[in-house]
Amino acid sequence: MISSRETLSPEAQLAEWVEMNKKITSQGKLATYIPALARANPHDLGAAVVGINGLELTSGQWHVPFTLQSISKILSLLVLLMEQSFKYILSKVDMEPTGDPFNSIARLETVKPGRPFNPFINAGAITVCSLIKGKNVDERLNKILDLIYRCTGRWPDLNHEVLLSEWETADRNRSLAYFLKDMGFLGNDLEQTLELYFKQCSIEINSLELAWIGAVLANSGRHPVKNTQIVPGEAARIVKSLMFTCGMYDASGKFAVSAGIPSKSGVSGGILSVYSSNKASLFKEGCGIGIYGPALDEYGNSIAGIQLLKMISKAWEMHAF
Ligand code: GLN
Repeated sequence: MISSRETLSPEAQLAEWVEMNKKITSQGKLATYIPALARANPHDLGAAVVGINGLELTSGQWHVPFTLQSISKILSLLVLLMEQSFKYILSKVDMEPTGDPFNSIARLETVKPGRPFNPFINAGAITVCSLIKGKNVDERLNKILDLIYRCTGRWPDLNHEVLLSEWETADRNRSLAYFLKDMGFLGNDLEQTLELYFKQCSIEINSLELAWIGAVLANSGRHPVKNTQIVPGEAARIVKSLMFTCGMYDASGKFAVSAGIPSKSGVSGGILSVYSSNKASLFKEGCGIGIYGPALDEYGNSIAGIQLLKMISKAWEMHAF
């Protein structure tokens, strides 16, 4: 039973839902195709919510660091949106959901002209990485790290074990990159592009920091407390729209129906959710939500994280419709 919001404080509600959903972590599986990810504790579940007014709620293993993985695709796209016109980006990466697994290569060949379907599948994210300007990989990576720093107040580290593991098991991502190069959709040097992609996936963060990034997006790109414009409102809007339609892999449609909150998941078990609305929600003006639960469902989304978000959405009236 979900307790009513009259009887429990929001913090106590969140703690109760995290505790309830911990039980279903045993039904999920850790990602093992990047071997270092298999070292996570499958029973961890953490959540953090940051409101536009700066209110922070945390629960469970919110402090456990994990790698951004696919959630990093949001950040590189934001960097690119600040450098290039939307029209130009659209000519290189489409903005359509696929219904395919995130690392699928199939449609690059079957749907002409081989342009990746959206920036959140691996093919699209690799293309986005190839278009970010900079003298070398580190200069490009620093733009992503700096964006995180401006949202969270902490300069993030890379997890070098995950990075190495990623590099050593990159056959699929290499295949995607070579195919994209052949079709003319890769901007920069292939090796440098892959290096940037692997490095962005290996950035380490925790649920609370993730929620701060979400709060910035919920607040149309403006830091809720420092009141500085970190990304243009238009870039935040584009990214949130894509999160709603393409953020949860080939379960995006189902998640949009059930939880109805723009979200982006990663294979390490993180989920970044952004609620922005003027409805009569507990978080009236919006909030960011950061979830960590490394046990994954059949689509590669955090099995307990999804259920937790459904509860949060229902109880705090965050569904988009
Ligand atoms: N690093 C992972 C990969 O490229 C990211 C994918 C994910 O989180 N779904 O396969």
